[in-house]
Amino acid sequence: MSLQDIQSRIHAEEEKADRPKGSAKLIAVSKVQPNERVEAVLEEGHRCFGENRVQEAIGKWPDFATKYSDLDLHLIGPLQTNKARQAMELFQNIHTVDRPKLANTIARLAQELGQCPKLFIQVNTGEEPQKAGIMPRDADGFVRECQAMDLVIEGLMCIPPAEEEPSLHFSLLRKIAARNDLSGLSMGMSGDFETAVALGATHVRVGSAIFGARAYEI
Ligand SMILES: *Cc1c(COP(=O)(O)O)cnc(C)c1O
Repeated sequence: MSLQDIQSRIHAEEEKADRPKGSAKLIAVSKVQPNERVEAVLEEGHRCFGENRVQEAIGKWPDFATKYSDLDLHLIGPLQTNKARQAMELFQNIHTVDRPKLANTIARLAQELGQCPKLFIQVNTGEEPQKAGIMPRDADGFVRECQAMDLVIEGLMCIPPAEEEPSLHFSLLRKIAARNDLSGLSMGMSGDFETAVALGATHVRVGSAIFGARAYEI
């Protein structure tokens, strides 16, 4: 599918759900993609991209930034505290705040750097042991804990279990966000972004549907 196709599908879902056009933002997930493919999407005028590794992103985006302005970069993969500073300097958004230690580090660095990316808390809606994210039952407490550190929480993010109906997870995420007065919902990938927009996603993270299959999985 082309970028344009995906964008029009998103707009169609927004319209069906009576949502303003553009209220669901398309994050083009460029991890592991060859630079030519990424550049082709930049040339189409798209500026919003997602990466899941800090190191990989550092090797790619500072160069693109010299040529393309107004980049809006989203970290969508797990963040180690020792990479938090680099992440905060490169990304405008971090979707994977998932534990107090990381929140603490981000809060301290935000003071020091005088800036902070937009922050999303990752919720492990499927309660999968191998997956990152705060457990749903701990989410309300963690939101308050982050806010008590003076962090502004934009919203919540989830990655539903591969074999389950994603809409159940999207609905759960929306419910947790609503009761915590959070407006951002980062949910939906190549296979389910339309469902996510129908259920209120403000950010969909779409990789392979735009760029084609990744050469390898990471
Ligand atoms: C890779 C990735 C995506 C994009 O996945 P596709 O199925 O290629 O659209 C979305 N979210 C996260 C967290 C990812 O790591």
